[in-house]
Amino acid sequence: AGRHSRVERPMSGDGEAVVAAVERVAERLEAERDHLTQLDSAIGDADHGGNMARGWAKAAEAAGDLDDPDPETVAKTVGKTLMSEVGGASGPLFGGSLVFAGAELADGISAETAVAFAETYLAKVEDRGDARVGDQTMIDALLPAVHTFKKSIETDDRPPLEALARATDAAERGVAFTVPIRARKGRASYLGWRSVGHQDPGATSTLFILEELLETAADRLDEPVPDVDATSPTIPDEDANESEDTKDADSDEATTAEGEE
Ligand code: ADP
Ligand code: MG
Repeated sequence: AGRHSRVERPMSGDGEAVVAAVERVAERLEAERDHLTQLDSAIGDADHGGNMARGWAKAAEAAGDLDDPDPETVAKTVGKTLMSEVGGASGPLFGGSLVFAGAELADGISAETAVAFAETYLAKVEDRGDARVGDQTMIDALLPAVHTFKKSIETDDRPPLEALARATDAAERGVAFTVPIRARKGRASYLGWRSVGHQDPGATSTLFILEELLETAADRLDEPVPDVDATSPTIPDEDANESEDTKDADSDEATTAEGEE
């Protein structure tokens, strides 16, 4: 976060903000081109870095050419460009889903339309790719991000920027989850058990996109990126317990309980 150059662009409205976000995503994916290619060469055909860098560069160009853009038009333009520029599995998945979900932004960008956009995008990727969580695909990053975003806004009533930060954090853990599991969809699935131990390229690029959306949103609101706690509250941290003063009290209690039996 914050390690990439900022897009200097005056933002007059939601459409301009989306264009700025797309430009920022394009820069990031260009910077990550070799990284993504490396990931795809381990379990695929080594084209994901080029696919994403080229596709998003063209998409940023097309979005930048729009006259007085609105969010829906920008999203659809980016999606169509990705569909025509990027072949393989990821072009239709990223691009087609973006075209479809873009319609949710017809009334501009609000917490409500952003949730609808995210849900529709996820549903479309699931529909087109027929992958589920645990198949070692982009779904493993996307689904936890979308679920966390929706819950943060609708149930927890968090500000949209914090919800996006939580969603990005969830995606990061989803990317880590792709490493110890076996691919069941896409090219990597041809490797069978040899896909275990590798990080999924599409989940990784999905995380990069979210990170840049988060940075753009923070810039636009002129707020720092919220610091969300990544530690899971459901898994007790033994090391943390060791260093706490309550340790002795806890073990005394345990001893007493045992003694009473
Ligand atoms: P290709 O696999 O055609 O070479 P890319 O290398 O650009 O396309 O993209 C590969 C990524 O696409 C994978 O890392 C995975 O995240 C994603 N992917 C592949 N198949 C599916 C699918 N059926 N559903 C969801 N995502 C998929
Ligand atoms: Mg590939």
